Amino acid sequence: MTFETLGLAPALLRALDEQGYTQPTPIQEQAIPLALEGHDLLAGAQTGTGKTAAFGLPLIQYLATTPQEVQRGAPRRPRALVLTPTRELAVQVHDSLRGYGKYLRIPSTTIYGGVGMGNQLDALRRGVDLVIACPGRLIDHLERRSVDLSGIEILVLDEADRMLDMGFLPSIKRILAKLPKQNRQTLLFSATFPESIKQLAMEFMHHPREVQVTPQNTVAETIAHRVHPVDTARKRELLLHLLAQDARVQTLVFAKTKHGSDKLATFIEKAGIQTAAIHGNKSQGQRMRALSDFKAGKVKVLVATDIAARGIDIDQLPRVINFDLPMVAEDYVHRIGRTGRNGSAGEAISLVAQDEAKLLRAIVRMLNRDMDIRDVPGF
Ligand code: AMP
Repeated sequence: MTFETLGLAPALLRALDEQGYTQPTPIQEQAIPLALEGHDLLAGAQTGTGKTAAFGLPLIQYLATTPQEVQRGAPRRPRALVLTPTRELAVQVHDSLRGYGKYLRIPSTTIYGGVGMGNQLDALRRGVDLVIACPGRLIDHLERRSVDLSGIEILVLDEADRMLDMGFLPSIKRILAKLPKQNRQTLLFSATFPESIKQLAMEFMHHPREVQVTPQNTVAETIAHRVHPVDTARKRELLLHLLAQDARVQTLVFAKTKHGSDKLATFIEKAGIQTAAIHGNKSQGQRMRALSDFKAGKVKVLVATDIAARGIDIDQLPRVINFDLPMVAEDYVHRIGRTGRNGSAGEAISLVAQDEAKLLRAIVRMLNRDMDIRDVPGF
């Protein structure tokens, strides 16, 4: 699947190519065609899955290709609104969308609290097509009538579950009441779908299509969970021992820190196993290269931190090794969610030192499943 086959315009394809996006992520593959067709969308996707482009690309394409119906002499009104829970996310989404739309002219602004009103008022007065806003400050603008939302054609709720967790439901409802009811497309992205979100969707969306890539808090039944107790000082040796047993098995190794994953990758590489590392200090290009080498089998072992591994999608990964246990039990599920997909067998191996016993107990509790705890002879 390519971005071209998803139906995106050449100006967007060019921008994506420059950013090094070669292939759509699963959520993009599912969401983009439906959004381009004009459907409302309920999308289950968490950060790291490429969700921003999943709503951003169709949104920009719509703005660039559909002329606005304007009455002569009337001021320019925003046509698309993206609501985000935090100002950091608003800025991040804005940056991403500006990158995707760099060959198109889509005037846009962010609106969030904690800063002066001046710049936001100027931008709104000059006229923008796209507003990326946090609910609280947007309400302030509505109250002082500095923004007119009656021309919104596309609404995106990004990280809807987090917005509700932060108590934004009343604000969201007030904002929704200011939007046109007819001829509006609504795209709702959320990592989880509690009852409150379903209700919101029922009230404000029109026959939404559902797409889903978020792994729920379950892991495939086909995965064997193994724990090897080991002294911290001998973890590296044990890891190498396990990898060397069959060096052909593609293995994703999780480490706690960026520095730790670099050191570990170098250590494995020195032992003659092709290895790459991905973490937050690597550039997007380096990460993409490491990932594609791993997918292509050129690299047998990929060492990753939790953050860096979010959103990487590898089908049929046979083995995940936790060199360090994750600090939060949910991350175990995210890590292991990469193996045993589609009914294939997978192995999840954790090297657990004495000081990690508490983390292990939390994981076992969450999985509600016993793990096979086994000493490796010699360790
Ligand atoms: P998001 O889930 O939207 O926060 O995106 C996570 C990261 O993946 C961001 O750094 C994006 O720039 C990047 N990204 C999104 N889609 C793609 C893609 N198709 N190819 C490569 N990188 C992508």
